[in-house]
Amino acid sequence: MTEAAPKKEQRRKFQAIRGTRDLLPPDTALWNHVEETAHAVFNTFGFGEIRPPIFEPTELFARAVGANTDVVSKEMYKLHGDLESFRDRAIGESNRPRTPQQLNMSVVMFVVFVGALKQALDSQELTADAESLRTIEKLTSLVREGHKRWQASQPTGWGTEWPEFFAECQRLAIQISIESQSLRPEATASVCRAYIEHNMQQLPQPQKLYYIGPMFRRERPQKGRYRQFYQIGAEVLENVKPDPMRDTAKELAKDAITDAEVIQMVMTFFDRLKLPGVQLEINSIGHAAENCRRGYVALLKSELEKVKDKLGADSQRRIETNPLRILDSKLEHEQPIIATLPKIADHLCDDCKTHYAAVKRELELRGVFYKENWRLVRGLDYYMRTTFEITAQGLGSQNAVCGGGRYDGLVELLGGPPTKGIGFAIGEDRLILSLQEAKDQSLVTSHQPPFVYVAWMGANAYAAAVHAAKDLRAAGIRVELPPVEQKFGKALERASKLGAQYALILGDNEVAEGTWTLKTLADGTQQKFTEPHLLDFLKKL
Ligand code: AMP
Repeated sequence: MTEAAPKKEQRRKFQAIRGTRDLLPPDTALWNHVEETAHAVFNTFGFGEIRPPIFEPTELFARAVGANTDVVSKEMYKLHGDLESFRDRAIGESNRPRTPQQLNMSVVMFVVFVGALKQALDSQELTADAESLRTIEKLTSLVREGHKRWQASQPTGWGTEWPEFFAECQRLAIQISIESQSLRPEATASVCRAYIEHNMQQLPQPQKLYYIGPMFRRERPQKGRYRQFYQIGAEVLENVKPDPMRDTAKELAKDAITDAEVIQMVMTFFDRLKLPGVQLEINSIGHAAENCRRGYVALLKSELEKVKDKLGADSQRRIETNPLRILDSKLEHEQPIIATLPKIADHLCDDCKTHYAAVKRELELRGVFYKENWRLVRGLDYYMRTTFEITAQGLGSQNAVCGGGRYDGLVELLGGPPTKGIGFAIGEDRLILSLQEAKDQSLVTSHQPPFVYVAWMGANAYAAAVHAAKDLRAAGIRVELPPVEQKFGKALERASKLGAQYALILGDNEVAEGTWTLKTLADGTQQKFTEPHLLDFLKKL
């Protein structure tokens, strides 16, 4: 019997989803080099690695990143669990035009939903507080009773009792809090969640943590902007103990040093990678108080009202929702208007001014060059004082490789103890793009071990080749051992194609003599070695 030809859809060629991509060799060597450098540099600054999960409760991101931000409201990948789908379906069915079939389906869907709730509670997939449990019980008995009634009467119309029944089912169903989960759009929220969950405030303070991993945002893909992208980030979190004798001046000086150290660490990392055209911009956005940022924002708002007609639609809307973000605007025609707006540096409170001056001093002490940019802002209340951004060459309009800032209120906002925080996130994809644009591929190759192709001929030579490959690999040398015998000419051709630097020539003669020939492929020169000498030679490269 012959098999039927596969249908068209079975022959479908799959492709990576738009905005995602495969990272392939040889590029992955550069990725690894970048990540190894991050581990090495961050360790020298006393940071330890944290690997949080890539999905968390949606609520965590809504609170930390801001429910009204684009990242959370438009770009998050929400994972729809069964419970949510069943609830949506039950509510949807019982809202639709009222045929007997829809009535039947609505009853069935509520039965399915309460069944799934029970299962989720039993398996502890769903945890519910006492009030939620009571709501679940009420809904379950209501649905059971309705189901019985429906079975007994097999209704052919909705009458008046069924709309009432479903309205009550819907009301209860909506009250049950089913935690939705999302792929992380960033990792600061997760690090803060972990700090709280593991009581890290009891460990020596501050806790200095870094992470490397994928983030997910449903943005419009373009060069340097992906839907799955990678970030390398770090956070310094420090519990604040109540202390009536607190010396504010000392605290401000200490925080400024922490900020400068964090910035110095990123700059050292970029320096080590020889990232081209690195530019650091810094600013202080003060703190959320009337005599500081709030006062400034009120002034900014009133100034913006005066020029409202000249602004674009987005900025006009932001006058009410988030006037600080207008300073971010890239619209050409808004630039001269923005240039005349009041500057936050002129409206900082004394503490914030002192802190900002100290940050600049500390950066200078560390030899870190910066440019001040009064338009560098963050939209959320818990961001305070230091903000910074780093740009690099070769990235077009998406040239920011790193953004960071201080966020002293965030851990508390997430239910933790009073905690200071400062951190940054580097866009690894952009960092790599910039390194590749610089075309300094010596970066990649200089970190590759020597590459030896073993050209063997003859049964005795094969056994010696297997042993040689084992020894060379144990010494950290990359070895390609062809699985078939090849004429030497063919073998050398293949070695060059694969990019090997050396060919180890092993024929039965060489094996009998105990001297092996190493050919340097770039210039064709040959040297004879005994095996131990060969190892020594290659190890020294
Ligand atoms: P953010 O978390 O938005 O402050 O971004 C920090 C850094 O992550 C940015 O400076 C970018 O380098 C990088 N980044 C943010 N979104 C994307 C994206 N969709 N694709 C690639 N890199 C991104």
